[in-house]
Amino acid sequence: MKKLSLIAPCYNEEDVLLIFYKETSRIVKAMGCDYELIFVNDGSTDRTLSLLKKLAENDEHVIYLSFSRNFGKEAAMYAGFCNAKGDYAAVMDADMQDPPSLLPKMVEILEQGEFDSVATRRVDRTGEPPIRSWFAHKFYKLINRISDTDIVDGARDFRLMKREMVDAIIKMSEYNRFSKGIFGWVGFRTYWLSYENVERAAGETKWNFWKLFKYAVDGIINFSQTPLSLASWGGIIMTIVSFFVMILLVIRRLVFGDPVAGWASTICFIIFIGGLQLFSIGIMGQYIAKIYIETKNRPHFIIAETNKDDVKKIQ
Ligand code: UDP
Ligand code: MG
Repeated sequence: MKKLSLIAPCYNEEDVLLIFYKETSRIVKAMGCDYELIFVNDGSTDRTLSLLKKLAENDEHVIYLSFSRNFGKEAAMYAGFCNAKGDYAAVMDADMQDPPSLLPKMVEILEQGEFDSVATRRVDRTGEPPIRSWFAHKFYKLINRISDTDIVDGARDFRLMKREMVDAIIKMSEYNRFSKGIFGWVGFRTYWLSYENVERAAGETKWNFWKLFKYAVDGIINFSQTPLSLASWGGIIMTIVSFFVMILLVIRRLVFGDPVAGWASTICFIIFIGGLQLFSIGIMGQYIAKIYIETKNRPHFIIAETNKDDVKKIQ
């Protein structure tokens, strides 16, 4: 029988932690396979860690990895993957938005051997603010147009993967992580499982609009070079246009002998071009900032506390 590693990033999840633990354990036990529940405490400031310690005392399947501070969900997922021992591994949100009830079906599909991973996607976004959904749809449209990597709209990070795929993901050791892109980039045969959106069981979302916006920009910069070429294209088009305008001006001067006029339009153009240049430099700056961070080679996470000995504490 295969061993299952379930990874749950937790950031201030005291309200849902026990619900998640009970429901997931119940389902996995019923499946009759060996498993481990890896909880990654991402620098919570509530009772999450003490709850985890209690769970670990009473259940040998529970492993907790407690970060030295909040590193973000991406780092928490990476820590989970780096320390997962199972033949199959999956990341699950602690708030029950990734239904554990899908697990038996996911394992069954992998067991048949035709696929290497079973990914999940929400077919709707009920319960989410409409404006957030609208921006999310636009983001997926845009990123799929300008990136070679397939990034599916509504895809969750909840996906059960075979060992080979997990190892590939661990190998992708970039500091700026965008898992939806990484999962797509490594490839493998993926089965897509659709389900209707489930609202958070309790507690509150850790994302606000600004955070999501930054996450979206990060996703684009990490998986597309198109913004970098925007400046070149803008420059080429402007050169061509200005060449024709120059010819036009010379002809006008020769025909009408037009003296000084049109300073307003000149100023407008100068400001416009100045703006475009700054915008382009800004885009380059975004990429350079990423390079800067990558070259520092800082660890993705630092584990301050855990209940296991053979844990990769800094990676
Ligand atoms: N999370 C985390 N670190 C963070 C933010 C979130 O580990 O800095 C975890 C959180 O505990 C939850 C999952 O990531 O298990 C998804 O977060 P949330 O439910 O707030 O996001 P949403 O479902 O609203 O997109
Ligand atoms: Mg959630």
